[in-house]
Amino acid sequence: MKSLLLLLVLFQAGAYAGERPVDIRLYSLHKISSVNLEPAGAGVLAGDRQLKGPARITSRGQTVALEGALKAGPSKTIKISAGEGLWLSGPGLPRRLYTGELLFSVAKNRLKIINSVPLETYIAGVVTGEAGDLSHIETYKAQAVAARTYTVKLLKNHIGEGYNLCDSTHCQLYSGLGAISPKARAAADATSGEFLLYKGQPASTFYHSVCGGRTETMTYVWPYEHKPYLISVRDGPPGNPYCSIAPRFKWKTKIYYSGLTRLSRQAGWILPDEVSRGLRISAWGASGRAAELEIYTQRRRVRVSATDFFHGIGRRAGWQAVRSSFFKILSGKDYVMLDGVGNGHGVGMCQWGAEGMARKGFKYRDILKHYYTGTETGHD
Ligand SMILES: [Zn+2]
Ligand SMILES: [Zn+2]
Repeated sequence: MKSLLLLLVLFQAGAYAGERPVDIRLYSLHKISSVNLEPAGAGVLAGDRQLKGPARITSRGQTVALEGALKAGPSKTIKISAGEGLWLSGPGLPRRLYTGELLFSVAKNRLKIINSVPLETYIAGVVTGEAGDLSHIETYKAQAVAARTYTVKLLKNHIGEGYNLCDSTHCQLYSGLGAISPKARAAADATSGEFLLYKGQPASTFYHSVCGGRTETMTYVWPYEHKPYLISVRDGPPGNPYCSIAPRFKWKTKIYYSGLTRLSRQAGWILPDEVSRGLRISAWGASGRAAELEIYTQRRRVRVSATDFFHGIGRRAGWQAVRSSFFKILSGKDYVMLDGVGNGHGVGMCQWGAEGMARKGFKYRDILKHYYTGTETGHD
């Protein structure tokens, strides 16, 4: 019901949804006290004054001040209209281009930057980041509808902190508009105002890179979560999945017991005096992915959900080591070999499968219906 209300708010009469701004917190993972500003073109305004050269905004106590080509503050907030574009940068900060309005203030002794940007501009930025390796315009369109739907579901994520979404993967990765892809922009425009709906409400449009031949039912990846449209589907003809065009569709990783012991201790799966001597799959999801694993030590078997295993290994050994939970385990003398397919959690749309479908002539609505069972696209 909440989601429906969001949509109604978004679709209110006379307001074209795409022009409606979303408020994004920028550099949300960085603890910053100052940021450099550099106009990318004309029309950058601080209040009613043109900003024509480089400047810097610095936090001082509970206030912010602008120095450089223009001076302002110290005051509680400084508002900049980015006009044709404004580059932000700083020590330890990636240089990024933004449009729309930027509001600078101080929160918890950090500089807080909130960017109000039209929804469709934001979607183009998100799709650029998410669809980087893909190439077909229909894939980009499917990604744009998924990202737009995901966005409206998240609009209340940070409402208590005064904005809608942060720019990290906590909400949805957003790196500004510096390298915005023309295809992402075209896809956002072509699908403007279009959402993925299940029984009239926006769907939870999870996606991942490569399913490996079969997507997974949500509840096997996140117990206690279930959506009737996030169920396992076969991704194309048997033996020839749509996502088989993905680079590194298959992977193999050898994990020595010494390494498994170290990782398992760090993750808290086994005690400091325990030694890992084996690993097996003890439960499978609907797709054939591992749902639960057992680690053998000298005195017991420890159960770990495959999702915890995937994240635990990924955080400590890198995300390339165990790329999915879709693997077989082959045991050696002092190691296990994980023989796997796919990349990512496997729930919802398979991005490389979408690309494979698009290259076979499917349109973005067919692609979305394939991965999100029983859903439909709808316009405002
Ligand atoms: Zn967030
Ligand atoms: Zn796939």
